[in-house]
Amino acid sequence: MSTETRLDLKKTINLPKTGFAQKANLAQSEPARLKKWAEMDLYRLIQQSRAGTEKFILHDGPPYANADIHLGTAMNKILKDFVVRSRTMMGYDAPYVPGYDCHGLPIELHVDRKLGAKKSNMSPLSIRRACREYAAAALKRQTADFQRLGILGEWDNPYVTMSNHYEAETARQFGCFVERGYVYQGARPVYWCIHDQTALAEAEVEYHQHTSPSVYVKFPLTSDPALIDPALAGRKVFVLIWTTTPWTLPANLGIAVHPDFEYSAFEHGDEVYIVASELVEAVAAKCDLGQRDNNGDRVAPRVLARFHGSKLDRLECRHAWLDRPSLLMVGEHVTLGGEADAETELDVKDAREKQATSKAGTGCVHTAPGHGHDDFVIGKRYGLDIYCPVDSSGRFTPDVEHFAGQRVFEANQNIVDFMRERGVLLFSENYEHRYPHCWRCKNPVIFRATPQWFISMDRAGGEIIEKDEDGRDRSNFTNNFTDGTLARSLRDAALQEIERVKWIPAWGVDRMRNMFKGRPDWCVSRQRVWGVPIPVFYCARCNEAVADRSVINHVADIFEQESADAWHTREARELLPEGYRCRKCGGEQWTKETDILDVWFDSGVSSLAVLENRKELRWPADVYLEGGDQFRGWFNSSLLVGLAVRDRAPYNIVLTHGWTLDAQGRAMHKSAGNAVAPEEVIKKSGAEIIRLWCASSNYFEDMRCSEEILQRVTDGYRKLRNTARFALGNLHGFDPTRDTVPDNEMLEIDAWALSELDEVIRKVREAYEAYEFHLVYHALYNFCTVTLSARYFDIIKDRLYTFAPRNHARRSAQTALYRIADALARMLATILVFTADEIWENLPDDSSRLAAVHLAELPKANGQRDAELMTRWKVIFQVREEVFRELEGKRVAGLIGSSLEARVKLRLNREYYDLLRPYQDNDELRYIFIVSQTGLFQADMRPNDGGSSGELPLILVEVERAEGEKCDRCWNYSTHVGESASYPNVCERCVAALQEIERDM
Ligand SMILES: [Zn+2]
Ligand SMILES: [Zn+2]
Ligand SMILES: [Zn+2]
Repeated sequence: MSTETRLDLKKTINLPKTGFAQKANLAQSEPARLKKWAEMDLYRLIQQSRAGTEKFILHDGPPYANADIHLGTAMNKILKDFVVRSRTMMGYDAPYVPGYDCHGLPIELHVDRKLGAKKSNMSPLSIRRACREYAAAALKRQTADFQRLGILGEWDNPYVTMSNHYEAETARQFGCFVERGYVYQGARPVYWCIHDQTALAEAEVEYHQHTSPSVYVKFPLTSDPALIDPALAGRKVFVLIWTTTPWTLPANLGIAVHPDFEYSAFEHGDEVYIVASELVEAVAAKCDLGQRDNNGDRVAPRVLARFHGSKLDRLECRHAWLDRPSLLMVGEHVTLGGEADAETELDVKDAREKQATSKAGTGCVHTAPGHGHDDFVIGKRYGLDIYCPVDSSGRFTPDVEHFAGQRVFEANQNIVDFMRERGVLLFSENYEHRYPHCWRCKNPVIFRATPQWFISMDRAGGEIIEKDEDGRDRSNFTNNFTDGTLARSLRDAALQEIERVKWIPAWGVDRMRNMFKGRPDWCVSRQRVWGVPIPVFYCARCNEAVADRSVINHVADIFEQESADAWHTREARELLPEGYRCRKCGGEQWTKETDILDVWFDSGVSSLAVLENRKELRWPADVYLEGGDQFRGWFNSSLLVGLAVRDRAPYNIVLTHGWTLDAQGRAMHKSAGNAVAPEEVIKKSGAEIIRLWCASSNYFEDMRCSEEILQRVTDGYRKLRNTARFALGNLHGFDPTRDTVPDNEMLEIDAWALSELDEVIRKVREAYEAYEFHLVYHALYNFCTVTLSARYFDIIKDRLYTFAPRNHARRSAQTALYRIADALARMLATILVFTADEIWENLPDDSSRLAAVHLAELPKANGQRDAELMTRWKVIFQVREEVFRELEGKRVAGLIGSSLEARVKLRLNREYYDLLRPYQDNDELRYIFIVSQTGLFQADMRPNDGGSSGELPLILVEVERAEGEKCDRCWNYSTHVGESASYPNVCERCVAALQEIERDM
């Protein structure tokens, strides 16, 4: 036998080998993988694999089908995908049916703009057709974008609010509200956009700063002032009001004061003014009222009488300039803050909080029942007209003296000038305040009373006639519904129900409670074309309105066949049941309601229209997941529909996500140049990076994004990818069925790695269970970068590369790597859908492996963590940190280059000495520290012995150059290099490995 080297040393090193590339190339590889999934029909395969297991339903809040997706929409859908996929991987049957909101103002406005002047000549039917086409096209684009993000669902069969079936269901559920007596028609002030000429829902209004003219105006008292106080007998008395909307003054029908506040009547020349006592000084100063002293300085006005507001109840003033009474009324809504008589409804609370600091106003509130919510309520109580002399385009109607035909916001200044000329204006100035604006056109909105359909929040829904089993009318003797639920108002029902729902984060319940405490009746009618018509008829003879559930169901059946377009293609009598007659006058001629339903009603019915009508789903849903704006919107309307139709919330858990902001915490706008466009990120880095960004941020708070932040995410991705690649590369040649090493025969560090894996699995499952995806990310990231890359892989690299391929110790490491890679793929599959499947594909052949990781389940923690082992290794790694620090110092000082050039001597106290001793004895320690030689000495160390300053003060590390020669094969230094005749340049360990390789050849 020749003594020459028989093997080429380089070829005896087990270099990693895998098809899992270092460079992800996601922008190219993702579309290919999507195509593969589509071809294998992955979604259906998953459904089939979960058939019969417990269901988990996330119900999709439908985005508007009117624009391309942006980062916020992408984030919303990705988070939902996380929920659905993680539950699927926990073994649930978790179908996902995406939805699209297709009706509504945004789409109609867009079509308006496109059609321009042509629209006025078009029939409602042609407009509806144009809207339908527009929504269908937008929906198609969005679908492609969502799919590109890796979101899995029934994309070939989404729910679409403009489908025949959905339109029919919308009408039917409106019928349920009608039957339970929640629906009424009334004139009531609603938010009104004079630009778009439509009523707006609360959710369609946003608040911005706005400058209004603030005016102090005097209204002459016409009742006998002696009725208030004898001291006022025979005096010319005026009540001072304050308002920031002079244009509502022509509609003034009264003045409200607080019954319990003290008011004062004070002198100014020969006139007497009444304001709240607390505000006398402020008003007098502002309006320059009261006497002057000899120097011409103003002195406090002389108060003639003080009295409670209740003294003024039902006395009368005359309008400031019109020949019409203005009634004095008392109401608890009156505040001493200025904002109380602003037109805002939702901000009443805000205004009341502000009152403490803001002392604008007089405590006497100008009341125009047609133009404000509180005004409407008190006006109703005092029997005033709901007078609204403003048309839909915001112009005064012809009966308004002096200002007929003027637009309200332009009329403001004219009214101020007019009042000044008439001498009824005491003071005016510009006033900055928060004011409601239209969410679409951004113009300020007004409050305007129009005939509208409402859903009452406070009427008890007990009017419904339910028969019990004996056919008796239960409503005569009990308030109960069939299921025993007490008849209650929607407000009460909602307030009760929201306590039962689980809100994540928990502040959701307060938010929702406040929402329902304050919300006014739901105005559901819109003066628009593109939507579901309010299925109500009017008798042509007596004008009786027919809102009847059975009639509505009849209409809905027609919608089901022909879509809601039938409302326009058919005559009224073709929509009514045959021979339908007016209950009041017997008439047979009918007209149709022209308003459509609020689009929030449309989406509010989705749970029933979708979940109850598809066999793969069920009502109620487990989870709703949307942004915080939906407390006003979809969470709100869905709850009301659920309560009206099924006496229950349509959801058990409501998750709320934050907004997407830029790195500085500002909202993203294309125009501001700070928007991150998903399609650009996809093109540059891949959808995976957006998904990982979603997972890495805590979505319960606002989520910041920028190019720099995405760069950090990309770095994180690379680390995860490299970790997976190391494992896969070193599994080359490993056959899991043939080569797996049983647990009890594994090397200790491999057993340790699997214990750590078990702990991570436990954490990850727990975080998925709690919808805390950022905790999943952090657990996996730390596991990959610290536990694996920096520790485990670092140590086993030598064994994997230099031991004979089939060596038991190497197989032990591979067994651990295989389990780690398999578990990583499953745990990452929810977030990194593409990469996890790529890992899966590159795992060693296993006949039982599923066609995609997404068909698999999350690994289960087996709980066999060896606590003693984990604690021991925790100490070992702490010692290792100390050693590394010392080595780094010597490297910097030039004593060593690679750590393999070092010999490390440790002095430690008894406890650590005993712990490390076995590793020294079996020659493991040097591989753990990645040095060539180690020495261990027991010493009674005391803190001041110059030991390291870290967590383990009782260690002293000494580094010197290793003895012997460098092995050509493994680069360790050894005094035995040269002892083998066959392999004169390698160490004793490599000689053994080479002999083993030769044997196996
Ligand atoms: Zn508008
Ligand atoms: Zn009639
Ligand atoms: Zn060697």
